[in-house]
Amino acid sequence: MQGSIEYLIQAAYLAASVLFILGIRGLTRPDRARRGMQYAAVGMLVAILGTLLHHDIVTPTWIIIGLVVGSIVGAAISIWMPMTAIPQRTAISHAFGALAATLVGIAEYHDRVLQVGIAQYHPVHLSGEEMAALGFEVMFGSLTITGSFMAFGKLQGFVPSRPMTYKFQNQSNIGLFVLAFILFVFLIINPGAQAAFYLMVLVGLAVGVLIVLPIGGADMPVVISLLNSYAGLASSATGFAIGNNVLIIAGALDGASGFLLSILMSKAMNRSFSNVLFGAFGGGEATAATTASSAGLSVQSLTAEDAAMQLAYARSVIVVPGYGMAVAQAQHQVRELAELIEKRGGEVKYAIHPVAGRMPGHMNVLLAEANVPYDRLYDMDEINHEFNRADVALVIGANDVVNPAARNDPSSPIHGMPILNVDQAKRVIVLKRSMNPGFAGIENELFYQPNTAMLFGDAKASLGQLVAEIKNL
Ligand code: NDP
Repeated sequence: MQGSIEYLIQAAYLAASVLFILGIRGLTRPDRARRGMQYAAVGMLVAILGTLLHHDIVTPTWIIIGLVVGSIVGAAISIWMPMTAIPQRTAISHAFGALAATLVGIAEYHDRVLQVGIAQYHPVHLSGEEMAALGFEVMFGSLTITGSFMAFGKLQGFVPSRPMTYKFQNQSNIGLFVLAFILFVFLIINPGAQAAFYLMVLVGLAVGVLIVLPIGGADMPVVISLLNSYAGLASSATGFAIGNNVLIIAGALDGASGFLLSILMSKAMNRSFSNVLFGAFGGGEATAATTASSAGLSVQSLTAEDAAMQLAYARSVIVVPGYGMAVAQAQHQVRELAELIEKRGGEVKYAIHPVAGRMPGHMNVLLAEANVPYDRLYDMDEINHEFNRADVALVIGANDVVNPAARNDPSSPIHGMPILNVDQAKRVIVLKRSMNPGFAGIENELFYQPNTAMLFGDAKASLGQLVAEIKNL
């Protein structure tokens, strides 16, 4: 009986692992992403059911309480958390994931190293390999807990989002990390050294806070993705420590995909990985270069009526969505406007910058929600050469990703970041509320170009006016 239950558990873990892999595969294409998430969710359910069959569980009461509380919190988050807060939500869920892995590690250490109930505590049953898995889990778990809480605090505004730097910061951080590593190696040789174990946890917690301090808000999503990969590695190590296959596989998938995502995001921002981690970028300081406004250039604005005329008679329009579209939740109005232009014989394409918005795929998710056909969405590399033929580039709440300073101004903090070549379109219409800068905190010379006109206002309201005007033509 026990043997067949064990087979059932392992079969559930295998099925869950396959579903996780299919889930990640689904995320490689927008049209399959929703299905991918469903596979992964079913995989998680199967893994939990398999775990509940475990013979070590004496009574399921606390597990059921945990499941109910967790489900209520999870459902509340998914219903009420706005899309624009997804990066912070991700950061805090990593913090809790890492907290779980670390607590499991500490409990396992406590159980295996200390024999409670006799006068003297003494080491039992913990080999060097097992200690290596446990130590890895607890070291990466503890730094991920505080690192993710810091990332959450910076994005939510609880902690200043600017980089906080001080003298010898990188050196002292590296020193602390080396100390944690020395304690880790020491523990592999002396698994019973409790003081070293708990000191390693404390050092890990301190490292988490200190490595995130010098990183600015703009780089936080890269950091979150990296911490995600640490949480994955910690979970994988937990799997080795407690002999759980699905944790090993899911943790490794999480670790590898989070790491790759961090590298891809750094590349999209044209930053080296080490520059993100040690460069103290993204604090939003204004560029030292002469700005367009200080050079006496002025901005042209236009009315919704004029903008509607230009769009209605354009043969080719490229829509460039950005963070402002997400804030305004204007994706449905964007689709409506595009359909009207298409009905009048114009062609509408969407140019998607890899870091538009505040998380990877942010624009794709929003446009998919509004049922914009996937084949109208073009990556930066696919569409950048088409801007010079476009009659109108319609920029909806995008700023940094269309800022020509990234190309033209070597002193700009975003210099080198690949941008969408919006400035090359025949006409550019920008929908935003004011002349406020975007995330990088710098002025955008695009807004001062002679072929650019601003339609000021909330993007959703402006698009509503454009739709109404075109319908009246
Ligand atoms: P930006 O943050 O550069 O600009 C957004 C613009 O939207 C603002 O200038 C704002 O101007 C406007 N806006 C805000 N609310 C509204 C509204 N309701 N209606 C109309 N406009 C609005 O956005 P981008 O998408 O161009 O660039 C993303 C930035 O985030 C880049 O710097 C990128 O590096 C960074 N980033 C993105 C990551 C990702 O994964 N996507 C990861 C890491 C960083 P105003 O207030 O005047 O309306």
